[in-house]
Amino acid sequence: MALVVQKYGGTSVGSVERIQAVANRVRKTVQQGNSLVVVVSAMGKTTDTLVKLANEVSSSPCRREMDMLLSTGEQVTIALLSMALQELGQPAISLTGAQVGIVTEAEHSRARILQVSVDRLARHLNKGEVVVVAGFQGVSSIEDLEITTLGRGGSDTSAVALAASLKADRCEIYTDVPGILTTDPRLVPSAQLMSEITADEMLELASLGAKVLHPRAVEIARNYGMPLVVLSSWSDRPGTRVVSRLPKPRSLQGMEIAKAVDGVEVDRDQAKIALLRVPDFPGVAASLFGEISSQNIDVDLIIQSIHEGNTNDIAFTVINKVLKQAEAVAEAIAPSLRTHPTASEEAEVLVDRKIAKVAISGAGMIGRPGIAAKMFKTLADAKINIQMISTSEVKVSCVINESECDRALHLLSQAFDVDLGSQKEITENKYPGKHPPVRGIALDTNQAEIAIRHVPDKPGMAAQIFGLLAQKNISVDAIIQSQRCRIINDLPTRDIAFTVAQSDADLACRVIAMLNEKIGCGEVSGDKAIAKLSVVGAGMIGKPGVAAKFFTALAQEQINIQMITTSEIKISCVINEAEGVKALNAVHEAFGLGGDEQIKIPT
Ligand code: ASP
Ligand code: MG
Repeated sequence: MALVVQKYGGTSVGSVERIQAVANRVRKTVQQGNSLVVVVSAMGKTTDTLVKLANEVSSSPCRREMDMLLSTGEQVTIALLSMALQELGQPAISLTGAQVGIVTEAEHSRARILQVSVDRLARHLNKGEVVVVAGFQGVSSIEDLEITTLGRGGSDTSAVALAASLKADRCEIYTDVPGILTTDPRLVPSAQLMSEITADEMLELASLGAKVLHPRAVEIARNYGMPLVVLSSWSDRPGTRVVSRLPKPRSLQGMEIAKAVDGVEVDRDQAKIALLRVPDFPGVAASLFGEISSQNIDVDLIIQSIHEGNTNDIAFTVINKVLKQAEAVAEAIAPSLRTHPTASEEAEVLVDRKIAKVAISGAGMIGRPGIAAKMFKTLADAKINIQMISTSEVKVSCVINESECDRALHLLSQAFDVDLGSQKEITENKYPGKHPPVRGIALDTNQAEIAIRHVPDKPGMAAQIFGLLAQKNISVDAIIQSQRCRIINDLPTRDIAFTVAQSDADLACRVIAMLNEKIGCGEVSGDKAIAKLSVVGAGMIGKPGVAAKFFTALAQEQINIQMITTSEIKISCVINEAEGVKALNAVHEAFGLGGDEQIKIPT
């Protein structure tokens, strides 16, 4: 007999008929010999309606009363579903978050779960009852028992937290789409259903998948190794499995406030190749990495920062063993990379063997400003200069001098309280089994790019910039530091660019301009007309040619790449927003992700 947690979203319980359909499915699952906890959302658009009501009464309703109000939505559903189950002859009982003992922080409207008591749940389950639990809500345990909510979309998180605490066999998330798709089907009609995705890939695809599955729910599943399935409550199709590696054992206490960073890694076996002053037009990255992949050389980090004039710098790292070969390719291609066929200046190739990559990783850093800044500050305080920075949703990687690598590892593991004993070199394969090089593609048009020219190239600059942004609660997405070094007033400088949510762009520019007076950088500019296109796949590790294919697909559409940043399982390009959808379609096609089946999604 398996213990299963099922979660049904708003549309799945949007009407009496839908609730009855859910009751039937629940009953069937029980009859197949399973024990069941069911977590539900508020019916249909109830939560939105309640928010609207509140706004009619008050222009700034306080968060405590908002929680009091919004938590009622789920309470309606649990009672109705329990009645519907009892009507079918299935013993069932409804419980609010507080009745279960879903204990959260005392943070109204965005509480994180601390722990879930399982005693009462177990008692009812042992009596053969289905327990129907209100999602999205909890109770704070300090002094007064306050009703809290987890933030919009939070009932996925409730479900996975319950499943992890109960050590359930699996958690099924029922929604109105058949599972997780290779990309947004509203933009790419040939998008197809995935049968499986790793939790890490899902997190890297957060901007694509967040509508289907709350990232916090994925984070809990990943941390506790809880098997998740996302599927439609309208059909019997198997949906998408979200799989996690067997995790390190961790306490169920402080479930969601556990460490933001749970890994510090170092890779000493890396060398850097930089091509300086390559022309800024479509096809350059494609031909460079096409040539490299045709030699079967695997590249690790790739970074291209903002252009300067009509040229860019592209830097990448490879393992030392193939450095000579990669260097030869770069040298061979450099003469053809001129800003203009008649120009005399060609790209210059720089090689540095004495580098190492240090990285911090952890799903907890999503939406939590300040993690990257803390890494930069830790390195800066130790006078370690950062040569390259590359970030993804769940990882920040820095290239530093190899001789400082041990010190960096030690300091970072201290700063983030990560036990080094369990840390391995990056070379270990974290994704055993077979995975496609590209599983899914996300287009994020909600980002703006901020560029800071001529930042002094000395330790502490990145720490100051991103520390200040974090103080203002601005979450930074991709951070890219250019390779090019310019001497301004006898001081070496580099450009730093990063992306933030569009709504934060103006504030970010103002904040940086203020700082600028202190540290003396060049011009600060913002560009909202950009999009970030990311390909994600655990199978791209150690597989040459993925970047080349990505860049070639863009080049064939004459789309210029403004910036490139990578992590182990992700490659992102910043491009012009107007070309976003065209680019997404081309790249989706290039990786053969399209199919004939029309996936219907509700509007
Ligand atoms: N009812 C809440 C919302 O609409 C929580 C959820 O459905 O996940 O955000
Ligand atoms: Mg939802």
